Amino acid sequence: MFENLTDRLESALKQIKGEGRITELNIAATVKDIRRALVDADVNYKIAKDFTDRVKDKALGEKVLTAVSPGQLMVKIVKDELVDLMGGSESEFNSKGNPAVILIAGLQGSGKTTFSAKLANFLKTRGRLSPMLVAADIYRPAAIDQLKVLGEQIQVDVYSEPENKNAVQIASNAIKEARSKNKNVVIIDTAGRLAIDEAMMTEVANVKSAVNPNEILFVVDSMTGQDAVNTAKAFNDRLDFTGVVLTKLDGDTRGGAALSIKYTVQKPIKFVSSGEKLDTLDVFYPERMAQRILGMGDITTLVEKAQQQFDEEQARKLEKKIRKNQFNFEDFKQQLEQIKKMGNIKDLLGMIPGVGKAIKDIDISDDAFKGIEAMINSMTIKEREDPDLINMSRKQRIAKGSGKGLDEVNAFLKQFEQMKQMMKMMNKMPMGRMGMKR
Ligand code: GDP
Repeated sequence: MFENLTDRLESALKQIKGEGRITELNIAATVKDIRRALVDADVNYKIAKDFTDRVKDKALGEKVLTAVSPGQLMVKIVKDELVDLMGGSESEFNSKGNPAVILIAGLQGSGKTTFSAKLANFLKTRGRLSPMLVAADIYRPAAIDQLKVLGEQIQVDVYSEPENKNAVQIASNAIKEARSKNKNVVIIDTAGRLAIDEAMMTEVANVKSAVNPNEILFVVDSMTGQDAVNTAKAFNDRLDFTGVVLTKLDGDTRGGAALSIKYTVQKPIKFVSSGEKLDTLDVFYPERMAQRILGMGDITTLVEKAQQQFDEEQARKLEKKIRKNQFNFEDFKQQLEQIKKMGNIKDLLGMIPGVGKAIKDIDISDDAFKGIEAMINSMTIKEREDPDLINMSRKQRIAKGSGKGLDEVNAFLKQFEQMKQMMKMMNKMPMGRMGMKR
């Protein structure tokens, strides 16, 4: 995500690193490079200029602090300005009501339908709410089917009236239905068009007046850069939406949309969506995004994702096994499964400071664990629990069963053995000194 921008900002900021203090003269090149980096990331020139003017003013206005180097100071100023540009702190999502009504709008292909399902899943699992999805696209019967398929995957009811060509009626009926079924959130997926179109706008505006939504979320494809910002403006002029959803952040997006939307429409980004899987939705935190843009990683999100997947009871059992040196292939397999549930592997690694940059050109697919899993799956339960059992003929059987070579099986067993050795060593270390460097 935003790799090019990250690289460019880093090298712009490097220039000031060796300086003893910030002056008008030695800051000029850095400021110019930051501006260029932003423009190349598809941020509108005026926004980029405004941004760097503020950075410059702040940098020159700072008191000289001996404890902080000009390099560190500039990084801090740029980070604070990025956070500000993207909206400051995270914004509230209003899901109070009986039912709360969430209206979803955007162009066709922006990811509206996928987002509607992701939001339903998010509110159900994290917010413990009982959502209902509404298919209010009256032009494309396929859109109704698409929402139904997604609804089934997350076990959320989908309301539709395939014969009805009146989106306002469908939305109003859906809300009545939700009340009778005790659903406390209704998510209405409206029709989109390929381009901004008067009939579409009127229809969404009519639905809005009829259902009085708690939230009107405008969904936009982040890959479309400045176009995304222009579309946002047109929708906001008509709908006065409450928040923005940026989709496809897993793609090759340069960052322009994320950085300029708030400035342009004065509405916060509330969610970011980064994948086709239905659990790839995150609340948007400007602070964390700014850290990622500056290559500082995002440990907070990584830890939260881990907390969502790993349950404490299991963690305690695992720790016990490691302490007793009983960690086996079955435990290993369970760990892999949990890591996979946390999301795209490359994305996760990218949240560790410094790692994102190091692996940016390496292709790490989500299938990276497939070979390992195939080998573990080809072991019997006994073999998984007691790896010492695995002799030559067993190795050959595992190789055959997993479609791997004998050398790969050997290498994997060796790695596993080394991992256990390492755990053993760590167990011997006095508590409290683990991992500490002097
Ligand atoms: P709609 O026409 O606005 O309802 O858009 P859809 O929800 O049908 O999405 C259009 C396409 O984009 C589909 O192929 C989705 O699978 C894909 N898509 C949606 N959100 C994301 C995302 O966050 N990442 C990626 N990579 N693809 C997405």
